Amino acid sequence: MFENLQDKLNKAFKTLKGQGRITEINVAATVKEVRRALTDADVNYKVAKDITDRIRDKALDRKVLISVEPGQLFVKIVQEELTELMGGEAQQINTKGDPAVILISGLQGSGKTTFSGKLAAHLKKQGRGVLLIADDIYRPAAIDQLKVLGEQVGVDVYSEPDNKDAVSIARNGIDHARKTGKKIVIVDTAGRLAVDEAMMQEIEAVKKAINPAETLFVVDSMTGQDAVNTAKTFNDRLNFDGVVLTKLDGDSRGGAALSIKTVVNKPIKFISTGEKMEALDVFYPDRMASRILG
Ligand code: GDP
Repeated sequence: MFENLQDKLNKAFKTLKGQGRITEINVAATVKEVRRALTDADVNYKVAKDITDRIRDKALDRKVLISVEPGQLFVKIVQEELTELMGGEAQQINTKGDPAVILISGLQGSGKTTFSGKLAAHLKKQGRGVLLIADDIYRPAAIDQLKVLGEQVGVDVYSEPDNKDAVSIARNGIDHARKTGKKIVIVDTAGRLAVDEAMMQEIEAVKKAINPAETLFVVDSMTGQDAVNTAKTFNDRLNFDGVVLTKLDGDSRGGAALSIKTVVNKPIKFISTGEKMEALDVFYPDRMASRILG
């Protein structure tokens, strides 16, 4: 995860780590290299510029120049700024309601169904009664995929293969959860390969009808700035509560992880790092910043 970015940042820090006497020019050159590492990682340009301006100001303020360990102090400043950039504190999902409804949105192939299974397993482990709802009316294979995952993690899956109305399936599923005493419902919706008006209208209608406690937007981190742009489009229509970044195991650059919070102003809540049901983590900005710095 993020190997390219990590490599480039570590190279950038070398001057400050090795230099006997540090000058303002050394700091400025390092800051410039950090900015290049970030833009190479597909971080939004404005985000990269703003964060490196802050890093430079803090570095000069905290007297990196006269510090005994200028390299270490500089890295600490970068770590603090990366943590802030990714949202600061970890953000929980809202599971209030009876049942609490969690709506999953995103493009086809982003990892929605896989994530729905993982989230069900994660919540079940906390002792909650969970129901998955397969709300994809276009792809029968998506229903089957969710059923397989549900079986794997021991969570019931509600589906109506012959019903072509996503709103009514979601409503019926929630009723079913109430009747069977399930406390949390996860609604896995249909995605398309690209943003599409019909898909947006459908998920907007589902959201309005079921009033979820939490709407999550799932996106493939490997798509970099495209991920950020798609997030913006979905957020404009759905006003979602949080982001799930998937396929971080294959993302060597980290551009989406670093840009999305600032650009969309919604926190990343979970990260997914593999196809297995265990490969899900709550997102902690500080841990991610440490990981990026290696
Ligand atoms: P959906 O169309 O949004 O429901 O996407 P799927 O859940 O079907 O996922 C699409 C593909 O990505 C599947 O082959 C998944 O196994 C795979 N996938 C999902 N999440 C991850 C992840 O975090 N890492 C990797 N490597 N593959 C993933």
